[in-house]
Amino acid sequence: MIPDALLDSLNHLFAADAISIADAERIAYSYDNSRQHALPDAVVFPTEHAQVESLVHACREHRVPVIARGRGSNTTGATVPVDGGVVVSFERMNRILRIDPDNRMAVVEPGVLNGDLQQALLPHGFFWPPDPSSAPWCTIGGNLACNSAGPRTVKYGSPRENTLGLRAVSGTGEGFRCGTYTSKGATGYDLTRLLIGSEGTLAMITEATLKLTPKPSAIRTLRATYRDVGAAARAVARIMAQPVTPCALEFIDDVALRLAHDHGGDSVPLAGALLMIEVDGEEATLPSAVEAVSRAARGEGLEELRVAETAAETQALWSARKALSPAQRRISPNKINEDVVVPVSHLPELVDGIKRLSAKHDVLIVTFGHAGNGNLHVNLLPRDDAERERAHACLAEVFALVMSLEGTLSGEHGIGMVKREFMPLALEPNTLALMRNVKAAFDPDGILNPGKLLP
Ligand SMILES: Cc1cc2nc3c(=O)[nH]c(=O)nc-3n(C[C@H](O)[C@H](O)[C@H](O)COP(=O)(O)OP(=O)(O)OC[C@H]3O[C@@H](n4cnc5c(N)ncnc54)[C@H](O)[C@@H]3O)c2cc1C
Repeated sequence: MIPDALLDSLNHLFAADAISIADAERIAYSYDNSRQHALPDAVVFPTEHAQVESLVHACREHRVPVIARGRGSNTTGATVPVDGGVVVSFERMNRILRIDPDNRMAVVEPGVLNGDLQQALLPHGFFWPPDPSSAPWCTIGGNLACNSAGPRTVKYGSPRENTLGLRAVSGTGEGFRCGTYTSKGATGYDLTRLLIGSEGTLAMITEATLKLTPKPSAIRTLRATYRDVGAAARAVARIMAQPVTPCALEFIDDVALRLAHDHGGDSVPLAGALLMIEVDGEEATLPSAVEAVSRAARGEGLEELRVAETAAETQALWSARKALSPAQRRISPNKINEDVVVPVSHLPELVDGIKRLSAKHDVLIVTFGHAGNGNLHVNLLPRDDAERERAHACLAEVFALVMSLEGTLSGEHGIGMVKREFMPLALEPNTLALMRNVKAAFDPDGILNPGKLLP
């Protein structure tokens, strides 16, 4: 329960249709895609930066938690109000404030959907590179707070590489701007990159200045199948070691291919492993780019290399990747969905090690994802309670394996509440202590999204 005095302040700040303490709304905003849940005491829908400042001021006065929320599509429980408090849904701060092709930038509010921004940029010949597959229904605020990304990251980078500046409100209720409106800047600490990936624990983002990239006019898709996962993983390292950087380099292991084949039919090839490779650029330069990448993809263990010539062929080549999600859901509605990262050259050891752990714990694991960044989705698919217990034991060993290969816990999903306990595996005590000091500087009373990220 929030104190009456705070509720009075909130009712003063928000119009009647922009605040709710009704059960229906509280339940609707109690969970996210992690399937964890906890009821908030209230939900508010700000439309202005100043409202967010006043809201955080008021909540700080009463030491009540404030939880930023985009569209709740994160997989780690990052928006679950574990200690109650006020969920701040940014869905109504959804204006694109400026598109400025001359300066290659756009200024947006945090509730703009990634997909809507991409559509608005198209007529200008630009795009914003972060491309989570949830783009049609996730927000720029959520993308920034999780440093979310997708296949294009291998060439174009994540939100951290594609954001120039932010406007935000810290846990004291003070508004501030950080970063620049310019494509270069060397003026003090880089608070922009610090806030990106901070999962709403340091500040509420109310505006973002995004760096835009001109949209290449042509793209080619290649699909390579290999005898086994090791051969495919070694091909990834060869592709990344030559000068033409693909704009997607995705890996699918044999178990995932079998699943996708059973679900999606014969258009999905059965093989030891598969790579989807895309190169983009201008039409005239593409043949040499395709040739360079093909040369690297060829090698020991390659079974077939296909290049799509038409849009229909491209779609057919992507069929395996598309069939994967529904296939997994059918087997295990409670899949454990991880997104570990290792240096690309360690991918062969990672995929071998995961196969060993899958056999040791007798748990089905499918491995696929953004191989060009060494970022693999390791999905454990327990089918009953006994398997779920074994999967949790297996997960700890997966993380230990990743650390032994100089990797890290998450490439794009973040930590939230579900991976918090593993943070000491990835970060030294001194590093964690510095992070706690940073948190205290931004949010001295710990009201911003408590129970997330830091163990
Ligand atoms: C089917 C599906 C596919 C997905 N595919 C991908 C993928 O390919 N790549 C990927 O990286 N992720 C993917 N995701 C995960 C998810 O979509 C991303 O994490 C996304 O960025 C979350 O955006 P959201 O608007 O839903 O944010 P939410 O889930 O609402 O919030 C996520 C985090 O951001 C914080 N936050 C939100 N808005 C603000 C703000 N204005 N200020 C401060 N903090 C804020 C929240 O407190 C929380 O910590 C997928 C999810 C689904 C369901």
